[in-house]
Amino acid sequence: MSAVGGVIRSDIAALAAYHVQDAAGYIKLDAMENPFALPETLRDGLAKQLSNTAINRYPDPACAALTTALRSAMGIPKELDILLGNGSDEIIQMLAMACAKPGAKLLSVEPAFVMFKMIATFCRMTYVGVPLRAADFRLDADAMLAAITEHQPVLTFLAYPNNPTGNLFEREDVRRIIRASPGLVVIDEAYFAFSSQSFLDEISQFPNAVLMRTVSKLGLAGVRLGVLIGRHAWLTEVDKVRLPYNINSFTQTAATFLLENIGEFIAQTKVLVAERTAMAANLGRLFARFPGTLCFPSEANFILIRVPDAAAVFAALKARKILVKNTSQSHTLMQDTLRITIGSPAENVAFLTALTSILESQYA
Ligand SMILES: *Cc1c(COP(=O)(O)O)cnc(C)c1O
Repeated sequence: MSAVGGVIRSDIAALAAYHVQDAAGYIKLDAMENPFALPETLRDGLAKQLSNTAINRYPDPACAALTTALRSAMGIPKELDILLGNGSDEIIQMLAMACAKPGAKLLSVEPAFVMFKMIATFCRMTYVGVPLRAADFRLDADAMLAAITEHQPVLTFLAYPNNPTGNLFEREDVRRIIRASPGLVVIDEAYFAFSSQSFLDEISQFPNAVLMRTVSKLGLAGVRLGVLIGRHAWLTEVDKVRLPYNINSFTQTAATFLLENIGEFIAQTKVLVAERTAMAANLGRLFARFPGTLCFPSEANFILIRVPDAAAVFAALKARKILVKNTSQSHTLMQDTLRITIGSPAENVAFLTALTSILESQYA
């Protein structure tokens, strides 16, 4: 114990490891996964591709086929470079490693995606979180601009839409933050498939902004593939801290084949967007009966709700074999909130039925 304690950095020893709930046997509405299995029509083709993969060789370091498929599937303009990561988490880590000068600061909003802060800590950067507006989680642009002036962050992360709140920030606020930033601004579009909004067509206008996407929320969370899109001058520097062969052969093969068939996943996404609309309407009707409950607007594949006793509702859902994310402890603004991932139509009905009976018994 003392040997470990004497060796491991004290700031790492003080951390709690990123915790993933055990989900076996549950309706899984906790991790923003696409609930639909791989389409039947793609299975034989994928199996054939994977069995032909040359796993005795190192992966293609240029990810040539995958790059072509990604550029086409996401409409990435020729003048922008791309850099691939083992999930966008790895891209966040590469960005932080490349920018972590002593004393350097990483800025984001609060609440935000937890990996921004964790990776800042890993890389010994100082994390600065600017609270969103308490009532509706809108961006506090004045507070952001003041924090940029005060802290001079080398990196600023904005998830668009934001996780865990689900809302899109005002586009003009995002532009103001980019223009005011002395460092690089990363727009994280992990949920681009569910919001009709993107900065992809604007990113090249800014000398200090890059865009990040992932295939995880699109139905390929198990593949582990994220992409950074931006100017050559930035990406060529970040690429220097990338470990060689970070995109393994199976990921390259599978993602290339599946992105060539992206229509199947877009179709699933459309179902989920319709389900989100229905869920929001159903929650609105349900919550009208119970004071103290609230449903926040979402442009992502999850919905944040507030209930009077989130821990009790979470436990009661769990007892009914439904797993959601209790976000209550993540930030003071998040008290008594639960984040519900949009599931399949049947899963969403099961969730609403369970939540209705839980609230009815709690308010009785
Ligand atoms: C889920 C999520 C990611 C992580 O994506 P991976 O590619 O699976 O690592 C990144 N950013 C945000 C905002 C997310 O919600």
